[in-house]
Amino acid sequence: MGIQVKPGKILINNEWTESLSGKRFDVINPATEEKLTDCAEGDKKDIERAVLAARRAFESGAWKKMSARERGRILNRAAQLLEKHRHEIAELETLNNGKPISETLHVDLPLAIETFEYYSGLADKIHGETIPVNGPFLNYTLREPAGVVGQIIPWNFPLLMAAWKLGPALATGCTVVLKPAEQTPLSALRLGELLIEAGLPAGVLNIVTGFGPTAGAALAQHMDVDKVAFTGSTGVGKMVMKMASETNLKRVSLELGGKAPNIIFADSDLDAAVNGALRGIFFNQGEVCCAGSRLFVEKSVHDEFLSKLKTKAEKLVVGNPLDPKTQMGAQVSEEQFKKILSYVEQGKKEGAKVITGGTPAQNKGYFIKPTVLEGVTNQMTVAREEIFGPVVCALSFTNTEDLIHQANDTIYGLSAGIWTRDIGKAHRFAKEVKAGTVWINCYNQFDAASPFGGFKQSGFGRELGEHALELYTQVKSVWVSLD
Ligand code: ADP
Repeated sequence: MGIQVKPGKILINNEWTESLSGKRFDVINPATEEKLTDCAEGDKKDIERAVLAARRAFESGAWKKMSARERGRILNRAAQLLEKHRHEIAELETLNNGKPISETLHVDLPLAIETFEYYSGLADKIHGETIPVNGPFLNYTLREPAGVVGQIIPWNFPLLMAAWKLGPALATGCTVVLKPAEQTPLSALRLGELLIEAGLPAGVLNIVTGFGPTAGAALAQHMDVDKVAFTGSTGVGKMVMKMASETNLKRVSLELGGKAPNIIFADSDLDAAVNGALRGIFFNQGEVCCAGSRLFVEKSVHDEFLSKLKTKAEKLVVGNPLDPKTQMGAQVSEEQFKKILSYVEQGKKEGAKVITGGTPAQNKGYFIKPTVLEGVTNQMTVAREEIFGPVVCALSFTNTEDLIHQANDTIYGLSAGIWTRDIGKAHRFAKEVKAGTVWINCYNQFDAASPFGGFKQSGFGRELGEHALELYTQVKSVWVSLD
């Protein structure tokens, strides 16, 4: 404990530079509300430089023509370096984001490492196909890298989101300009250092720290970016798509908000379901796009379930994120902190009852108590809009016929959970729910090999697994006359 937090610079062509404007912005520790360090504030001109570097690196072939196995080795070395420095990076992430060290160390870091390992193994397994066509022809496909990729990531899993984006993009031979969230730029910069140490050629990865409407928008609008991958709010996702369509029609993939149903049937293992509901909403302070924020509980067990949930929620250790015993840390920023509390007020106004929490947990730092709202209906604002905080909305149900309709009655479709011992019911639900991920008798499980992404306004495109390779490659069909 007690790492040195360095000021952040922009990474272009494997060199660390200030922004052209010379401006910097403060990076805050949300647990103390104090300045942690500052970072170069990149804007349009810095994005220009970064895209140029990425374009040169792409066209030079230094990366895309390197043997795929060697690219894989570099990614594997990056995984090993992350492993070597995991304690330091976990602490850096916790200081910057406010999430508990037990999670950064045991969730974010292992998953980020696993992501680089997984794509290091896939790098030399990306290939085309031969297709039986009519006539005297040989027809085959080539799977080529998409080109220069812009990646815009959020603040809730800063390192992990960088890994999800960079792993497949680098494995396929793309070159990248990464724009971390302004609240949490530090772990991505550290990752950049490690990727250079692992052997990434100059220009393959460029990182421009800065704000969304300036640096982020410049990347989404850039005429020489071939593809943009975005994770963040649905509102900004729509803007990114618009910017892409109004400029060079770059390819777009979006991983956006959610309002997941987590459904508890009376025939479930109730204690396991209580733990699943807790994990579903309080993991990462509820700053999770797939959080189980709409908790549908069957009426016959509703009171018993909520009473158990309340007891356990009140026992969660909220506080200093650096303390290994802490289970819930600080929200990322004052803005989020206020927004979450205002949603609780809105819920109360519309008739929901706060059975626990609903207030700040400490005088200093952006801590909010684990909060359970009872008596919520699907029409209330708190059930329709993404709160992105430790606030679960409990809804009671009796009519199982109507349940799937209610579960799907949302603009989002990122994930869903169901708790029941009836396997037929569970699989029927998995088929009928409009969501990119379904958890049966578990919640918030992830693996680098399993695809993740949304239905409806939760976005499109699948990250992780082999599916992510589709985001970063394009298919070319080649015809050869055999005459
Ligand atoms: P949140 O509202 O949860 O902070 P955002 O969607 O605003 O989530 O942020 C996710 C990422 O999108 C961040 O890196 C942010 O800087 C970036 N971003 C925000 N606004 C824009 C924009 N207008 N254009 C491009 N990127 C943006």
